[in-house]
Amino acid sequence: MIDHLSVSQVKLYLLCPLKYFYRYIKRLPAPPSSELTLGRSVHAALETNFTQKIATQQDLPLSHVTDAFSDAWEQEAKETAFDEDEKPGQIKDEGINILGVYHPTVAPTIQPKAVEQPFELTFANVPYTFKGKIDLVDIQDRVIDHKTTKRAPSPEQVAQDLQLTAYSLAHQTTQGQPESSLRLDVAVRTKTPKILQLETTRQPADHTRFLKLLGYVAKGIQSSLFYPNPNFTCPSCPYRRHCDAWQDV
Ligand code: SF4
Repeated sequence: MIDHLSVSQVKLYLLCPLKYFYRYIKRLPAPPSSELTLGRSVHAALETNFTQKIATQQDLPLSHVTDAFSDAWEQEAKETAFDEDEKPGQIKDEGINILGVYHPTVAPTIQPKAVEQPFELTFANVPYTFKGKIDLVDIQDRVIDHKTTKRAPSPEQVAQDLQLTAYSLAHQTTQGQPESSLRLDVAVRTKTPKILQLETTRQPADHTRFLKLLGYVAKGIQSSLFYPNPNFTCPSCPYRRHCDAWQDV
């Protein structure tokens, strides 16, 4: 069984409880998609720059950041399940281009205070600890999450994003006060990459709602409520074969 919950776990359970079961309870291997590998590699490059910037207050040269991206990409790509029609080299170039736009325009506007800040929280209604890492908190106490996506998220998606709600809750719980602002920095994978800075807020009612949700997901897991919920990820689900035989087991 599991010993903690994370936002990724909660999101996966809500998407498909059976997929959650195969990944986190049965721990069946699931190679990452190219989209995940691209996102993780861009993330690693940003982390390399911002971590050293806490002390130096200077951004690294772009070439150092793209080198960090390439190193991460080469590692991640070995395990990645690329679709037949995907060209890994092209996707890698997309990452280099994203950093080429992000680094000179957005990075200079951020002075980080903490990068990949871990949190581990306990709540009376949740029988597991809740763990995660806040992407970035800057010296103005702004909480920033970085994402790489094919399409720009809608305002509703940003307003309801569970990752941002969890970051806000973790900041409030660990710091004793709300963040000064909450922002999603999104790299959109258009031909010329676009960087969007999407501001949002979370109120105490959003935290309460999230905690209630966490409690219900925990109850579902403890009660072994693992059932298929067909959704948009089914075509690329690594557990299709197991799922197809679910009713016979
Ligand atoms: S194929 Fe679809 S329904 Fe089945 S486990 Fe995967 S995501 Fe869930």
